[in-house]
Amino acid sequence: MAIGLDFDGPVHRYSRGWDDGTIYDPPAEGAVEGVHELMKRDAVFIFTARTSLLLVGAWLIQHGIPALLDNGRHQFWNRRELVLVTNRKLPARVYIDDRAYRFTSWAQAFEELAF
Ligand SMILES: [Mg+2]
Repeated sequence: MAIGLDFDGPVHRYSRGWDDGTIYDPPAEGAVEGVHELMKRDAVFIFTARTSLLLVGAWLIQHGIPALLDNGRHQFWNRRELVLVTNRKLPARVYIDDRAYRFTSWAQAFEELAF
């Protein structure tokens, strides 16, 4: 099963957060090498909440990461020679995300997240 990789943070450095919505930064340190290493081990899709998958895909290709844009027809992703760029939450054995919290129970979540 695939690995889901968040674009902003783990791949795009994203040093100013959303800012004006453009993809303004270079890759995060080690990101290009990291993506290629992941691709040797499993299929990788890069997910984003951004509306333009085209801009994300172009940025990835510009930085040496072969990418295909999601056309909405993939139920899952299992190709290793290129990453899928998607805004859908496809099945994955793990998601790598700079904002994720690993859910185990509601009690623990409320305790640890201090809402
Ligand atoms: Mg992120």
